[in-house]
Parts: sequence; structure tokens; C-alpha cells
Amino acid sequence: MFRSKLWANELDYRRTVLKVVLCIIIFAGSIFVVNNWLNGFKVYALIELAVVLFSVGLLAIHKKTPSLTLWSSLFLFAVYTVILIGIFTVAFKAALYTWLFLIPVLSYLLLGITLGNVFTCVYVIAGVAILCRALSFESSEIPLISVVNISLCLSAIWALSYTYESKRAAMVKRLQQMAAIDPLTGLNNRLLLDSSFEMLCESLPETQRSVSMLLIDLDHFKKVNDKYGHHVGDKVLIEVARLINETRRLNDWAFRLGGEEFCMLVTDTTELQAHSVAERIRLAVENTITIDDILINISVSIGVSHWPSDGETLNQLYKLADERLYQAKETGRNKVIGH
Ligand code: GH3
Ligand code: MG
Ligand code: MG
Repeated sequence: MFRSKLWANELDYRRTVLKVVLCIIIFAGSIFVVNNWLNGFKVYALIELAVVLFSVGLLAIHKKTPSLTLWSSLFLFAVYTVILIGIFTVAFKAALYTWLFLIPVLSYLLLGITLGNVFTCVYVIAGVAILCRALSFESSEIPLISVVNISLCLSAIWALSYTYESKRAAMVKRLQQMAAIDPLTGLNNRLLLDSSFEMLCESLPETQRSVSMLLIDLDHFKKVNDKYGHHVGDKVLIEVARLINETRRLNDWAFRLGGEEFCMLVTDTTELQAHSVAERIRLAVENTITIDDILINISVSIGVSHWPSDGETLNQLYKLADERLYQAKETGRNKVIGH
């Protein structure tokens, strides 16, 4: 799916997590900078200071940046590298290894499953390898059983974080599909109208910058429900959606806006061509729909408007198409009005 408002919600979630993590790192990192400077680990303190300053900068831009994943990756790379250098140099004494437990959690929350796997794999294995290396020193302060415990605990957190993120991502995807697709007809629903219009306007090359809106409403649909029952009415809606979808070209979009109202965004057409697309839909529906061997007497009225000649915004376009649809209804139904 293209970058719609639905995907924006997912990015908002990641931005919020990043903000919390940045605040924690800035707070904890500042304490470490002072502590390590006072204890004579001046180079390490300066490296930590660089990470803290980077975190402050990122906190300032995290809400707006379009490259959130890139910045999050750089941030985690910096933080994890500082943790590993710390474990490598001061080994067990400062209990720095406890920060390793954050690696799977932060990686999956900030980067999602694929990149989260890469970061977790690389840094957890590197962290445990550094601890194992320390075991081999004669003066080792690390008992083997502690390294085993740390590794097991890390594996448990890794497995839980992976399960949480993969289930969460699958659930979000399912909810996005449910929110974007009309369950009866399989067409896009109203929620996607804004973002697909925006995307069409932005993505079309200069020479093809035109979008026509077709607002399609079934005529006297209530009578169909009253005469044949709601379940037949539903089948009529499904059939009309199929006919609309058949008329659609690759770059056009079709929606069910609600009830018995449909919409099509047709790209790269003149007003005349858009009018003939609407006519095709009208003729395709007119007295052709057969449900359970019963020919249903149904037709559609269509109002058409054009971007940019009829208005700059989606609202202006919708309002005009709706007015023209109303005129079609008022003047006898089963017709297209485009200007
Ligand atoms: P008009 O030509 O003026 O548009 O008349 P109409 O009867 O089509 O319009 P009206 O707004 O009076 O009625 C719309 C009907 O559509 C009423 C409602 O029961 C029916 N409807 C809305 N959603 C569904 C649906 O999902 N399934 C079925 N079967 N009927 C629906
Ligand atoms: Mg109607
Ligand atoms: Mg209606």
C-alpha cells in the first residue's frame, strides 16, 4: 500500500517510541559521562558525550524527519557500539552488560522485524562474544555461570520481543486492510479517498496532470431492498462494484463511499473522456444486473467533476460532483452530468 494516512499512524507510533528512548539515553548517558570523566575514563566519557549530543539533536528533529528509519538505525548503531566498547574495556565490574538486555527490545520497537533481526543478531552475538572472551582471561572476574545466565536471559528477551513485534505488525496490517477495504464489495473505502487523491495529484507527470471524479449513486435502490430483500440488495451492490472495477484502468481508483454511493478517480483524461467513462458505467449497469435469475430493474446517476479545472481541492471537487449528481437525480435519473 502506498504511504497513506494509515501508514502515517505506524510512523507516529515509532516516533513516540524513539522520543521515549532518546529521553532515557540522554538522562542515563549524561550520568555516565560525568561518572566516567571523574573516574579517569576520559576518552570513553567523550564518546558517550557525542552520543548524548547526537540524541539531543535527534530529539529536536524526530517529529518531522522523513528518514525516521535511517536516523533510528544510526542512533541504535551509536548506542550499541558505546555499550559494547564499555563491556570490552571495563568488563564485569560496572555491570554494563545489563544494557545488553535492551538491544532486542529497542531494535524491534524502533526498526520493525527485518532490520530489528539484523541489529539484534549482530549486537547480541557481539555482546556475548565479548563476555566469553573475558572468561578466558586468567584474572577473569566473570564466572561462567553468569555468562550462561546472561545469554539465556538475552535469548528469552529476544524471543519475546520478536514475538511481540511480529504479532503487532501482523495485527496492524490486518487493521489497516479492514479500515481501507469495504468488506461487502472489496473496493477501497472512504478512508483512502483523501490520500489516494493527494497521491494521484503529486505523482502524475506534468503532461498528465488531470483527475476526474465520478460520483455514482444507485437510483431508487431502496425499492430494490423493499421488493427483493436486503440480501439481494447486497448482491446488487457487489455486482455494481464489479462493473465499476471492470471499467477502471490501472492508475484509476474505485471506492465505495458508503451505502449505495460509489466514487471513481480517473486519471489523465479530458472532460469528454471522463464523461464517456461515466457513460460506460451507466450503460453497463442499466437493466443488466441479474441476481438469482431475476433481472433487477436498476440504474445509476453520475455526477462528474475535474481537477484542476473545477477546483484545486478534493472537497471542491466532491461538492461539485455531488451537485451534478443531484441535478441528474432531479432531472430524471439514469444519466451523467459533467458540467
Ligand atoms: P435515489 O435514487 O434518490 O438515490 O434513491 P435511493 O432509494 O437509492 O436512495 P435512498 O438514500 O433513499 O436510499 C438508499 C438505500 O440504500 C437505503 C438503504 O437501506 C440502502 N442501503 C444502504 N447501504 C446498504 C447496504 O449495505 N446493503 C443494502 N442491501 N442496502 C443498503
Ligand atoms: Mg440512491
Ligand atoms: Mg445515496
